[in-house]
Amino acid sequence: MADKILNTEELLIILKKYRYKQLHIHHTWKPTHKDFNGRNHLRLQQGMRNYHVNTRGWKDIGHHLALMPDGKWVTGRPFNQTPASIKGWNTGALAIEMVGNFDTPGTGAYNSSGHDKLEGKQEESMLALIQYYGKRFGYSGVKFHREGPGVAKTCPGTSLNKIKLLTEAKAFKPGKGDSNMALRRGDKDLGITNLQLNLIMLGYGSIMEPYGADGSFGPATETALKAFQKNNGLAVDGVAGPATQAKISELLKKAGGSSTDYKKLYDDAKAKLDAIKKIVV
Ligand SMILES: [Zn+2]
Repeated sequence: MADKILNTEELLIILKKYRYKQLHIHHTWKPTHKDFNGRNHLRLQQGMRNYHVNTRGWKDIGHHLALMPDGKWVTGRPFNQTPASIKGWNTGALAIEMVGNFDTPGTGAYNSSGHDKLEGKQEESMLALIQYYGKRFGYSGVKFHREGPGVAKTCPGTSLNKIKLLTEAKAFKPGKGDSNMALRRGDKDLGITNLQLNLIMLGYGSIMEPYGADGSFGPATETALKAFQKNNGLAVDGVAGPATQAKISELLKKAGGSSTDYKKLYDDAKAKLDAIKKIVV
């Protein structure tokens, strides 16, 4: 099975088909956040698989999922197979490797260079998964690697406190803090292209010139989004959260747009813009 990149929503839909006794949480220790460049999700996962198979001699990558610093999940060992995760506890477990070294500097059994923080989108995705797991199977099944029988490691890192993480997971509100829904500056993906196309259709294209719908949420998109929020009585934070996205959908519906004819609407909007440019020049 080829590794797949998933957002949390997509992952949770897939997980509905499976049942687990425990949720195992690890950090990779290596690779760290520094090794992630925003595009090498699959390469990092493949590197871990090579290590697990060729060096450790396992039949496949040990974990079911790697959680990247951008909050995206990468699939590994098939979901219905026992992981190589926490010795003695593997049967019926779902194993997660969070990419990063979450040991605090100067701590950790075999490492003194820890510095990564579980924060932002990576933390949100982890909280969402823990909450999903806890609601279905009970929070008592959530296990840090270091809790395992006879484990001397600090995994998933000395900076992580399990009680605090579980408390945050229980209180986590998907769709509010869930950045898999909220789009913000620095984001790059298809969701951003759609957002930009929507803003162009709603008349904010000129603010985004000369970049247009380039799939990258930069300062121009942020300015356009803030203008949209201001004009529509929304909180002007430059983040396309649920309220902003709902308003965009509502206005597009009124305008007769639908998600299925993005291309045509975009082409129309672009033709209008091009016409305006000709006049200006
Ligand atoms: Zn571990």
